[in-house]
Order: sequence, then structure tokens, then C-alpha cells
Amino acid sequence: MNPRQTTYDFIISGFGCAGMSLVYYLVQGKFKNHKILIVDSAAKKANDRTWCYWAEKPLSIHPTGHAIISWQNISLSNGHSRVVKSLENLRYFHIKSSDFYREILALLKNFPNIHLLQDSILECAETEVGAYVKTEKNGIFHAEKVFNSIPNLSTNRFTDSMLKQVFVGWKIKTQAPCFDANTVVLMDFLQGTQEQTDFFYILPYSDCEALVEYTLFSDQKPDLIGMERNIDQFIKNNLGQEAYEITFREQGSIPMSTRELSPDRYTHIIPLGTLAGCSKPSTGFTFYTIQKHCQWIVTCLEQKNFPRQMTWKRKAKYLFYDNILLNIARKWPKKLPAIFMNLFQTNSGPEVLKFLNEESSFFEDIKILSRLKFPVFIQSLLRYEKH
Ligand SMILES: Cc1cc2nc3c(=O)[nH]c(=O)nc-3n(C[C@H](O)[C@H](O)[C@H](O)COP(=O)(O)OP(=O)(O)OC[C@H]3O[C@@H](n4cnc5c(N)ncnc54)[C@H](O)[C@@H]3O)c2cc1C
Repeated sequence: MNPRQTTYDFIISGFGCAGMSLVYYLVQGKFKNHKILIVDSAAKKANDRTWCYWAEKPLSIHPTGHAIISWQNISLSNGHSRVVKSLENLRYFHIKSSDFYREILALLKNFPNIHLLQDSILECAETEVGAYVKTEKNGIFHAEKVFNSIPNLSTNRFTDSMLKQVFVGWKIKTQAPCFDANTVVLMDFLQGTQEQTDFFYILPYSDCEALVEYTLFSDQKPDLIGMERNIDQFIKNNLGQEAYEITFREQGSIPMSTRELSPDRYTHIIPLGTLAGCSKPSTGFTFYTIQKHCQWIVTCLEQKNFPRQMTWKRKAKYLFYDNILLNIARKWPKKLPAIFMNLFQTNSGPEVLKFLNEESSFFEDIKILSRLKFPVFIQSLLRYEKH
């Protein structure tokens, strides 16, 4: 559509996971009649990513149009040993992004006060009373608040030298069964000689079908062709499948940093999603935290209570734990596999996942960390740096 009005209550700049999640929570209550403009350069129809999160039951925002896919076990391996963990009362849930986009877009059809605009945003800035976005084809739009998840506008800072989790995934169908359909492979570490952390992540849909993803932690420009070659080699050599069909491809790059990606303070521009610090630096998991952040923003709006910092506030202890791990990932990457393996070997699945979701108590942290007896943590503390 081509909106006629140019002033709104809210503008959602970037309509990916975070923009869609925010509008979902906004229309549940007090803000359902607000005038909202949503701008994204994409039509949001394509299936461009697969999101997973863990919880006891699916979140209210989880798409319901198809049967819900989830797993009860996860495994980690490093070539020498394998650890398989039951998630007990938790499930590892799967979302196809196109299902998520379709259901949020369908929901918005009930709200004539919400306008969608497909256009590129060139600029996002504050005025004394609000904020505006400048679009490529439709001019400038003003609002009391702009919620922005678009990286690389002037309001935020992504740097090339930042460590990133880079990954390429193929959904494949094999001729012979080769996957354990009950168990997600969280990390299958490679025994390479290069000084980097890399592993495979596998979401099995059946014994012949899975999303197979190659991930590496790197601050270099990724060699995507080389990464795809690694997937092909893995399918042939490790899974023993010469013949397979690729039915879907995805790729991504998630910043691994405890620094603020959107460090400037604004009154009327509120960062969302990865930009707001919702990606956990040591694991890249973001989806679940985006939900917590968006719900918190809606509560702040309802209470007219706007803290100076509206990015996701992580507890200092988790920033510290992540920095210790990022320090190891930077300086001694070959030691990371043993740390992750040991973390899962010595604790129950739910204990580790609660810790990774940053929902563990101090005593639970002590219990988990005291079981990890690695000199590398001392080394990392002695050469502690923020990443
Ligand atoms: C392939 C992939 C798989 C992932 N899997 C998981 C997972 O399993 N679990 C998990 O927790 N996290 C996962 N993540 C990380 C994270 O959940 C996603 O990256 C998530 O989409 C981040 O949400 P976001 O809203 O911050 O960014 P996005 O979803 O990327 O949204 C940003 C939006 O901005 C739009 N945009 C960009 N520039 C402009 C512009 N100039 N003008 C207008 N619009 C613009 C884009 O079109 C996009 O719609 C994954 C990431 C990727 C890439």
C-alpha cells in the first residue's frame, strides 16, 4: 500500500522477527487502535530462516497453521565422544519463518489502523517531539516512537572486525536413512587443524530428511563456497550419503559481542532484535529473547515508563560468562568443544538450557560452573578482555 498519512503513533522500521513480534504484542492490548506504520524492504513471504527455541510449551506467538515440530533430545559430539541429553520437561521447538510471517500478516488484516509499506529505509533520526524515517520511494514519515531493527543505519554500529557466528544450512533428503529423528545435533565439532571453532548443527525431520548446517566462529569475510563444500563433504563422509537432494538453503551471520550494537541513547528511537542485544553472544540464540524484550517494551509503553536504555538489559553475570567464553573463542578456539561437551556431560539438559536462556539463579550458576574444571577458565580470567 501507499500510505496517505505521514504521521503515526508508532513506526516499526524493519519487519523481521523482532518487528513482527512487537506488533503481535502491541495488538493484544492497549495499543490495538494505535496508528502504526510498518516499513520493510522485503515482502516477507519467503522462507528465509529456521528458528528454534526451547520451552515447556510453544510460545503464544508460535505459528499454529501446521503441526508443531519439536524434539525432546539434543546431542553434542567431538569425534571422540558423544553426549545425548533428554530435555525432560522442555521441548526444542522449530519455526519455519514463512509460517511465522504469514500468520502475523494475516493477523494484521484485522487492523485497518496498521499500514504496511514495502520500501527501503534510508535514515532514521530523532526530532524534539518524536522520530522519523526517510524512505527511498515514499518520503518521510513521523511518529512518536520508532522501533528499529535495521542494522547499519546511522543509529547503530556493526563492525567488520567483530567475531561472528557464520553459518550455511541445507535442508536435504537422502536416499537411505541416516538421521536420528528424535535427537537434534546441537554441535558436532570438527577435528580440523585450523585455528577456529566450527561444527555441524542438525535438525532431523525424519530419518531421511534434515537441515544440516555448518557453523564457524570467525571475524573474517566468510568463504560461502568453501562452507558449502564442507557440508557436501560432511554428508558424504560423515553421514555416508552419496546421493541427496537439497530442498532449501539458508545462511546467516550473528554478531558475537557483549558490546552494545546500538550504543547511542535516544528517547524516541527504540532498538529491537539483534540490534537491541537480543542475540546471545556465545550461542547466537535470539528468538526467545526477542519475545521477552518485545513484551517488556509493551509493558513500558503501557506504564509510560521509559528507562534511558531500552535495549535488552542482560544481567552483568551473563555478560561476564559470555566474555570469558568469547575470550576463549578468540584466543584458544580449539578448547571450546571440550567446554561445551563438559557443560552438557556434567549437568542435566534443562539445567544447561535454563543457564543458556539466562534464567538461572546464582546458586544454579555456581552448581553448573563448579562442575567445569578447566584451567582454560583461569587462563581466560588472567587475560580477560571485553569482546
Ligand atoms: C538463517 C538464520 C537462522 C537463525 N536461527 C535461529 C534460531 O534457530 N534460533 C534463534 O534464537 N535465533 C536464530 N537466528 C538469529 C535471529 O533469531 C534472527 O536473525 C532474527 O531474524 C533476528 O531478528 P531481527 O528482527 O533482529 O532481524 P531480521 O529478522 O533480520 O529483521 C530485520 C528486517 O529489516 C529489514 N531491512 C533491512 N534493511 C532494511 C532497510 N534499509 N529498509 C527496510 N527494511 C530493511 C529486513 O528485510 C528484515 O525484514 C537465526 C538467524 C538466521 C539469519
